[in-house]
Amino acid sequence: LAEVYKTSNPRSETIYNAATEVLPGGNTRSVLFYHPYPLSMKSAEGSRLKDVDGHDYVDFLGEYTAGLYGHSEQIIINAITEAAKKGLSFGSQHEGESVLAALVGNRFPSIDLLRFTNSGTEATLMAISAAKAYTGKKKVLVFDGAYHGGAFTFKGGKSSPVNAPHEYLIAKFNDLDSVKALMQANGNAGHVACILVEPMIGSGGAIPGERAFLEGLRKAATASDAVLIFDEVMTSRMHQGGGIQSQLPSDLRPDITTLGKYIGGGMSFGAFGGKRAIMELFDPRRPNALSHAGTFNNNVLTMSAGRAGLEEVFTPRRAARLHDRGEALRRTLQRLSHGTLMKVTGYGSIMCFHFTQTALEKIRSPGDLSEDDKVLSGVFHLFMLANGYYVARRGFVALSLALQEDELEAFTRTVQDFLQSHSQLLS
Ligand code: PMP
Repeated sequence: LAEVYKTSNPRSETIYNAATEVLPGGNTRSVLFYHPYPLSMKSAEGSRLKDVDGHDYVDFLGEYTAGLYGHSEQIIINAITEAAKKGLSFGSQHEGESVLAALVGNRFPSIDLLRFTNSGTEATLMAISAAKAYTGKKKVLVFDGAYHGGAFTFKGGKSSPVNAPHEYLIAKFNDLDSVKALMQANGNAGHVACILVEPMIGSGGAIPGERAFLEGLRKAATASDAVLIFDEVMTSRMHQGGGIQSQLPSDLRPDITTLGKYIGGGMSFGAFGGKRAIMELFDPRRPNALSHAGTFNNNVLTMSAGRAGLEEVFTPRRAARLHDRGEALRRTLQRLSHGTLMKVTGYGSIMCFHFTQTALEKIRSPGDLSEDDKVLSGVFHLFMLANGYYVARRGFVALSLALQEDELEAFTRTVQDFLQSHSQLLS
């Protein structure tokens, strides 16, 4: 497959080689690199991508969830075009900002006030700073295998070397005992400023947080005067109110939520928001207000695209349908792969293919995937690409609103072909 890949993608190779002259490893976004070199796309429409070597792909990666709307949702393109005609960035306040803030705030019952950033990474960094300032405490409890942005990842019990320098306590996802033990060892109320968690581990393998676990985190945070931060940069698409099994319809509410991805309509976006008492720390009218700035935080293109998307495209009906389609697809794939090394985890429209001996129901934290067969993931990836399906090397899939039923069915048949043609490797 690797040889076929190389012979059929010569232009991508040339572009990649040129990129290595100016970018370390030819790359500016680690997740997009894979061996031998990544494909270069040149255009996209709806659910389809075109690469520089003339191949078409059905996009099942959906820009790692940011591409919820597909590539050419006309309402969003119109909003961006109209906004661009009136000027790109004013260096001033403008109405689009409060309009989008209200739209986002209304979807999250736990968000009284919010602020915009340019990325999910910044949103999460700001949320941590807010929690530390609010509590006067320093330690940040996170989960092994979580991803909260390029500045900080946690793997194998360690934080990554490129790091936001906080004092981290790294617990095990879906394991309340590990949280309690760390809280106790760190003086509970005395030291822990916040618990930062993805309601579903996203990039780390699409592993949903169990209800009792998320509820337990709420209790543990409250009992220790720690701020509970839900990183919903990926999961906010799961429900109109945001949150996988979290914020709506139940009363499980974090103190701060961080957002990103599709909410900016496909433009650079991030936001963090939550309880009034915490967010008011940023009120510039206050003496000693916390500072938070960013040239493009309220850029007009994002504000317009985001507004159009939330108001006119991602309606409750379409959100529910996308969710149901994802659930149906994942269940079908789970049934087809039953008894093989392929395991499909996820929730709603986000899922991930793993190749492991670990039984599906035993995949409860990223550590349970440590024996994942990366070679098989690579084979699966190249097979899907060769058959015209764009998915991530690590098996990550996020459905967009642009995907049609027949595309989902054809995708399923291709996975079935893979299972059949590789049955010996997968048993
Ligand atoms: N948090 C989570 C849960 C994410 O999945 C991501 C991005 N994949 C981020 C934060 C960072 O967002 P961004 O890439 O916009 O900085």
